[in-house]
Amino acid sequence: MNLTLSPEHEEIRRLVRNFAEREIKPRAAEIDQRSEFPRDLVDRAAELGLMGILIPEVYGGAGLDHLAFAIFIEEVAKHCASTAIILDVHASVGSEPITLFGSEAQKRRWLPGMAAGKLLGAFALTEPEAGSDAAHLQTSARRRNGVYVLNGTKTFITNAGQAGLYVVMAATQPGRGAAGITAFVVGGENPGLKVGPPFAKMGLNGSPIAEIVLQDCQVGEDDRLGAEGDGFRIAMRALDTGRIGISAQAVGLAQGALDDAVAYAKERRQFGRPIAEQQAIQFKLADIQTGVSAARWLTWKAAARCDAGQPFTRDASMAKLFATDMAMSATLEALQVLGGYGYLEEFPMARRVRDAKACQIYEGTNQIQRIVIARELAAAG
Ligand SMILES: Cc1cc2nc3c(=O)[nH]c(=O)nc-3n(C[C@H](O)[C@H](O)[C@H](O)COP(=O)(O)OP(=O)(O)OC[C@H]3O[C@@H](n4cnc5c(N)ncnc54)[C@H](O)[C@@H]3O)c2cc1C
Repeated sequence: MNLTLSPEHEEIRRLVRNFAEREIKPRAAEIDQRSEFPRDLVDRAAELGLMGILIPEVYGGAGLDHLAFAIFIEEVAKHCASTAIILDVHASVGSEPITLFGSEAQKRRWLPGMAAGKLLGAFALTEPEAGSDAAHLQTSARRRNGVYVLNGTKTFITNAGQAGLYVVMAATQPGRGAAGITAFVVGGENPGLKVGPPFAKMGLNGSPIAEIVLQDCQVGEDDRLGAEGDGFRIAMRALDTGRIGISAQAVGLAQGALDDAVAYAKERRQFGRPIAEQQAIQFKLADIQTGVSAARWLTWKAAARCDAGQPFTRDASMAKLFATDMAMSATLEALQVLGGYGYLEEFPMARRVRDAKACQIYEGTNQIQRIVIARELAAAG
């Protein structure tokens, strides 16, 4: 068992840390306050080769592994969880289904633009009446004269309106549940795809989410990912990697909060000495550090198992469950270390608390993660 990062992983951490500290950190507060999509940071990520982190080199990507991907998302999330989720969705659920399940022609058509950052990816599974129970989605895809016609509404879609392509799950055999679902790639310019106004939300303000309305939206047979009926399996596999990304996002949020809380506790003096000398504060910091380390190891373990070609569904769900619950409590406790200042928007703590909440909800709520873990346990016998 090797518990040290390889020189290549250290290098990616150095590269992203540098980018995040110099370019993302100074932008994070205004992105949040103005609900601004950080196009400049997406473009810079592309220049650094990060938009194609998981895309094979032959299609213009960096061809790195899931551990590198987790390191990347953590370092970005330390300073801006909005930017982290935009990049995470693109790199995982927004593009990996094409890498894993696309035909050679689909890969050549879509992946180079995604790796270059010209096409941002999005993933459209959730519907107003089908959230956790995604197998019962209602969007239909009917085959007519050599094309599929998609009708239905997707909701909560990250990168909506900014994306150049959407991986869309629709029922080719309505009423058959998971077995009737098929995955499609729908270009952002498709006239049958309409994007609703961005939802106002609690946090992650730089990351737009909106409804996607598919109205007689025509896509070719060559836009189908995999075979008819493969869509649910494709979506679940996409979410396994996605959950590594969300875990990494949560670890980054908590690590950023811890770093700021430690620095503040050493500076802030009350009762004649730094508050870092109060055992009550020390215990908070110790608990956060322990949670962050445990969550990072769970995340890296899930990534390492994925990279080794081993089953990792249960590991990804455990990492997501633990890391995101940890991030919620860690950001709240770190805010408390700053006292009244933590409550001010002038400091990044309140933003981190608002942003952390989403991590417990998306890519399968933490109740659903428990169902996945328990199901895997039962299946293992
Ligand atoms: C910021 C944000 C970004 C998102 N981005 C995307 C995206 O890019 N693409 C996409 O497709 N979706 C996206 N989503 C949607 C997200 O994945 C769903 O919100 C989530 O899966 C839960 O679905 P729901 O909101 O319909 O809740 P529901 O499924 O209605 O659940 C409501 C509550 O009931 C609980 N619950 C439901 N079923 C069970 C059960 N069997 N056992 C125990 N508890 C249960 C849930 O845990 C939850 O607490 C996003 C959501 C948010 C908030």
